[in-house]
Amino acid sequence: MNADPHEIQKFSELAHRWWDPTSEFRPLHEINPLRLEWINARAPLRGKKVIDIGCGGGILAESMARKGADVTGIDLSEKALKVADLHSLESEVSVRYKHIAAEEMAAQEPGQYDVVTCMEMLEHVPDPSSIVRAAAALVKPGGLVFFSTLNRNPKAYLFAVVGAEYLLRMLPKGTHDYAKFITPAELSQFVREAGMHVDAFKGLSYNPLTKIYALNQDTDVNYMVACSRPL
Ligand code: SAH
Repeated sequence: MNADPHEIQKFSELAHRWWDPTSEFRPLHEINPLRLEWINARAPLRGKKVIDIGCGGGILAESMARKGADVTGIDLSEKALKVADLHSLESEVSVRYKHIAAEEMAAQEPGQYDVVTCMEMLEHVPDPSSIVRAAAALVKPGGLVFFSTLNRNPKAYLFAVVGAEYLLRMLPKGTHDYAKFITPAELSQFVREAGMHVDAFKGLSYNPLTKIYALNQDTDVNYMVACSRPL
């Protein structure tokens, strides 16, 4: 299976704190409104059938459901999915959560989704290109796919590993493995090889002085890409 058991375990151990906005998951809480708005601007979510690959505790999945989408969230951490389920019960926002690999879901429900999202997950899997192919298989012809990940260059190492894990201690040490970061060129190639178009890139940068995230054209560290499956 295209999954690293240590990665899944790492997220499972922290899962009970997923919805605590001051926890290890704080960065996900802080970037969520920004990525949600970008997705919703390119693919208005109301009434759309959406699948979120690597949904974790459901921060993005639930927020897309709040926008009126019919959302399925999949992940391989059972603990994270349990937390996601409990949270959706509490907040009364319905999301369907499933413990299943993206590749298997793609075989079961090909071409069923208007929108596919896969955020902050590709840098945790052994073969990210296989996840990109699964996303391309899950989306309907004409549908949109969104990925986010970490770029690989000295600045990304400095910000995402040294800064976030060692200096600012925003993330536990060992959260990110620099060797698994993915450049926009590599991700573009995976997207094209999966038969999709690259529509747009968006940078998501963190200012350590103001402690504020912002969307911009700076894809040096955190970035997102919007792709489309041709009709
Ligand atoms: N996408 C969510 C969570 C990101 S954390 C968000 O951005 O808010 C990364 C998630 O990827 C974790 O929940 C982890 O369990 C999941 N993950 C890691 N490897 C995976 C794999 N091979 N298949 C499915 N999920 C995986």
